[in-house]
This record gives sequence, structure tokens and C-alpha cells, in this order.
Amino acid sequence: EIQDVPAICKVAKKHGIVTILDNSWSSGICYKPLEHGVDIAMYSLTKYFSGHNDIMMGAVVADGKIFERLYSSYRNYGISVHSEDCYLAHRGLRTLPIRMERHYQTALKVTDWIKSHKKINRILYPPLSSHPQHHIWKRDFSGAGGLFSIILDQRYSNSELGNMVNHMNVFSIGASWGGCDSLILPVQIEPARSIMKYDFNNASCIRVFCGLEDPEDLIADIELALERLPNKSEFSNDRSV
Ligand SMILES: *Cc1c(COP(=O)(O)O)cnc(C)c1O
Repeated sequence: EIQDVPAICKVAKKHGIVTILDNSWSSGICYKPLEHGVDIAMYSLTKYFSGHNDIMMGAVVADGKIFERLYSSYRNYGISVHSEDCYLAHRGLRTLPIRMERHYQTALKVTDWIKSHKKINRILYPPLSSHPQHHIWKRDFSGAGGLFSIILDQRYSNSELGNMVNHMNVFSIGASWGGCDSLILPVQIEPARSIMKYDFNNASCIRVFCGLEDPEDLIADIELALERLPNKSEFSNDRSV
């Protein structure tokens, strides 16, 4: 889901409201919140920045008066991070632009293959022209990462989804994306959507993170995973004959 950030910031500025944007999805490489009017950008460095799933860290980015206020709070709270973690985050930063480009290109290849599969109703990935806010993404972003969701053709049971994701060859089941390894996870997105309502016909949703592996291996893995889902519509056709 992509918001019209410049429009939101314009209204906020008029009313003296400080705006904060969590920019972890774009890693800061393909979207720069402060250039779009945001006051404070937040990042999970745990994800793309470190890039290897081996630290937990975050960053807050601001400038001017807001930076000064944040900085004095930071000093007073005594927040600090481990030097070894700083070293790993710094090392991740050196390959971040290259990794982001690869995540993006892989996700484009994988979504291009998935989109015509009969068990897929929809792909939620802003770079695709079928995405409801593609026009905003195109206007404001210079690229994307490797994270997207797929809406399946219907609601599958937990055991059916479990059977799908429990036997992957390349993908692991996991939440904290942004590393080298691809992840897959059945998710329920309805409770997390407060502003925009999409009609997914109650179909199951799978979140996919494309890591740095060969895109062909990821496609082959997803193809087999979709085959593991029961073909309910064919089943009901058989019965009606
Ligand atoms: C994962 C995530 C976080 C939390 O990051 P951690 O570094 O794991 O605590 C925050 N915001 C977004 C958008 C995330 O995806």
C-alpha cells in the first residue's frame, strides 16, 4: 500500500504536525522521505541495511530543529548500540545499492511468472501496473525491493497453507526479510489495513521476500508450492458431473 506522502505532508505542515515515515520497505535507496516533505524517516537496519539477518538495529533520520530535539532525547535516554553491530551495519551499507537492485530485478522476474498462474488472483507489489497505487510509486520511487504479497484464488485452510510452505527447497518460513535468503509466510493482512479497503474475496494471502538466489530457482520453488495447494474448483466440477 503506497500513500500519497507529499499530499499528506502538505496538510500536516499547514497544521504544524510533525510527520514520521517508516521507510524500511524501500531501504532509503529507492525512496527519500525527507525530499518528499517528511520530517522524520525511520529504518529497520535489521533488514536491508545489514542484509544478512545477523543484527537488530534501527535508525531515525531528521535534520534541522527536529534533529536537535531528537538528538537531545537520544542523549538523555542513553540509547546506544553495540560496536560489533555498528560494524556489521556499516559493512552492509557498502553493498546495499547493489543488493537492492538485485532484490528488485528478481522480484520483477518472479512476479512476472506468478501473475498468470491460475491459483493467483492478485499480486500486491507497487512496481506492477496492476497495483492500485502504481501511479504514486512511479512518481515518487526510483525502484523497489524484493518484498511483495500474493492473493491466492480462494481461502485455504491453515493445514493446506502449512503443506504449501513447509516443503520449500529454497524459501524459508520467516518474518524478518531483507537478508540474502528468500522467505515465504502466510499472512492475514485485513486487520493491518485501516485506511484502504480492498476486496480480496476472503482469499488467502502469502507474503514473499525474494532474496539474492537465482530467480529461476525461486520460480521453480513457488511453482511446486502452488501445486501442493489442493485444486478445489476442479474438485467441485468433478462432483457436479
Ligand atoms: C521489520 C520492520 C520493523 C521492525 O524492525 P526490527 O529491526 O526487526 O525491529 C519496523 N518497520 C517495518 C516496516 C518493518 O518491516
